[in-house]
Amino acid sequence: MSVLPFTAPEAYVSGVFAAGEPDALSLCFVFQQTLLLTTDDPPGVRLPQHGELARFGAAPLRRIYLGTLGERACYAYEYDANTEAPAGTRWHGLRGLYGRLDDAQFALAGRALQLVDWDRTHRFCGCCGTTMQHRGSERAKECPACGFIAYPRIAPAVMCLIRRGREILLARSPRFAPGVYSALAGFVEPGETLEQCLAREVQEETGIKIANARYFASQPWPFPHSLMIAFVADYAGGEITPAPDEIEDAQWFALDALPNLPAKISIARRLIDSIVDEMRRS
Ligand SMILES: [Zn+2]
Repeated sequence: MSVLPFTAPEAYVSGVFAAGEPDALSLCFVFQQTLLLTTDDPPGVRLPQHGELARFGAAPLRRIYLGTLGERACYAYEYDANTEAPAGTRWHGLRGLYGRLDDAQFALAGRALQLVDWDRTHRFCGCCGTTMQHRGSERAKECPACGFIAYPRIAPAVMCLIRRGREILLARSPRFAPGVYSALAGFVEPGETLEQCLAREVQEETGIKIANARYFASQPWPFPHSLMIAFVADYAGGEITPAPDEIEDAQWFALDALPNLPAKISIARRLIDSIVDEMRRS
């Protein structure tokens, strides 16, 4: 299986503190809210280097050291929402850059987006309101007044593809693009295991019972800060009863009559393609 999008690249070494200031060639993940700055480099796009940021008139709101990719130091920046992109550069939604930006840089952009968002939304202590400071020893922010520590937020979510004979269960949420069906998914609640979450979500969303849940793979998903953990499971009983509001439609699909599926950037598509392929060969 090829590497899932947003998986940390092999040449990347995570780091919290830079030894010095960025050099001219440092790789810059520059955000304005959720938009990433790219430099036109026909026929494609690339990330700007630190030396090119001088073309911004304004100073960034924040800068976060990410570590190194190969020999190059990597930094995430956020600029104010009113900052205009310098000539020859453009703001892009991250999803639209999949396949256009280098895969390793695309994956780190997902990480950078999450850390910028975390830094922006954890400026003040949730306990006493004091301005938080980055911690000296790890990726965390600490309140100098009361000692409260905030780590980057990661919300685990499980995904389940259910098999029944030569069919799979797919459902559509009202948020999906027209005609697209996917595997079931939901966020883990405090106090439950992944397996318990899987059984609960499937039961709540479709009224179906499952058995033999097997781990498939996981994917960091930076919209905004999920970790998707995918499983395949067997049908163990029940009739499809879609949860109102959450599930618009759910059906058993035969392998030769599949509906439109999610985009290839997501683990959902990888899960469906892989299991369908396995079922076809068996
Ligand atoms: Zn505090």
